[in-house]
Amino acid sequence: MSSKLRLEGKVAIITGAASGIGEAAARLFVENGAFVVIADIQDELGHEVVGSIGSEKASYKHCDVRNEKQVEETVAFALEKYGTLDIMYSNAGIGGPLTSILEMDMEKFNSTMATNVSGVAVTIKHAARAMLDRKIRGSIICTASVAGTLGGLGPHDYTTSKHAILGLVRSACSELGTYGIRINCVSPFGVGTPLASEMIKLEASVVEAMSCEMAYLKGITLKAKHIAEAALFLASEESVFMSGHNLVVDGGFTVASNSYP
Ligand code: NAD
Repeated sequence: MSSKLRLEGKVAIITGAASGIGEAAARLFVENGAFVVIADIQDELGHEVVGSIGSEKASYKHCDVRNEKQVEETVAFALEKYGTLDIMYSNAGIGGPLTSILEMDMEKFNSTMATNVSGVAVTIKHAARAMLDRKIRGSIICTASVAGTLGGLGPHDYTTSKHAILGLVRSACSELGTYGIRINCVSPFGVGTPLASEMIKLEASVVEAMSCEMAYLKGITLKAKHIAEAALFLASEESVFMSGHNLVVDGGFTVASNSYP
């Protein structure tokens, strides 16, 4: 990889960037020359991330993706502060513990849809409007999951929501393509974040050890940074002809599991 900054001068909003994969992406995007708005509901953590990255390149905006007005205000904040919006990384998500479909809590089901599906749709809507108005050939990246193509890896509501992300990205890609806006998703595998630990009730290091065990690619411990690298690629000009794609970062787990006898 060349040492050139891959997002020099670009402006990105990353939702869910106060923790985990989003936080790793915020750091990596800034290291690659971007200005980043960290959009989250965990205000204290979000400010801490900005403090450690440096306020000249990053800023925090409270943004609950379930609230359309807050998403709209976050886009307006980025435009006002940095003058443009090139990248929307719609990454915020919730998980929750595994439960039986027979005991499914419908309030929890709807709450997962509100964050993981509507919350992504609304960020696509407002980012695309801002890009279109300014004729920006932007990049929108959504976070799906290996649970977006396979069943049996997460709670039913979560699995449903991540399948929906793939549908949303595929649906949006043709219309946005006519404006020169790209939209893709990244599908992470088990990274030891608070979301994954809560879902499978295991500590972060155990989640990562389990991923190493399950992945077909051996010798690497999966970290949030590996997922962020995929998002960086989709955000950068290096993926300029990619749209509607699902970039799976799982050490071969999905395809190899499907092709196993
Ligand atoms: P995480 O818990 O570290 O981060 C999730 C972030 O989203 C948190 O900072 C949280 O405050 C924020 N968030 C939650 N609800 C929000 C809302 N309504 N508005 C704004 N922000 C909100 O978990 P993570 O693993 O880094 O998750 C990031 C994304 O990656 C999620 O979409 C998740 O589904 C996906 N994912 C993670 C894994 C994994 O193994 N960790 C695997 C597949 C997919």
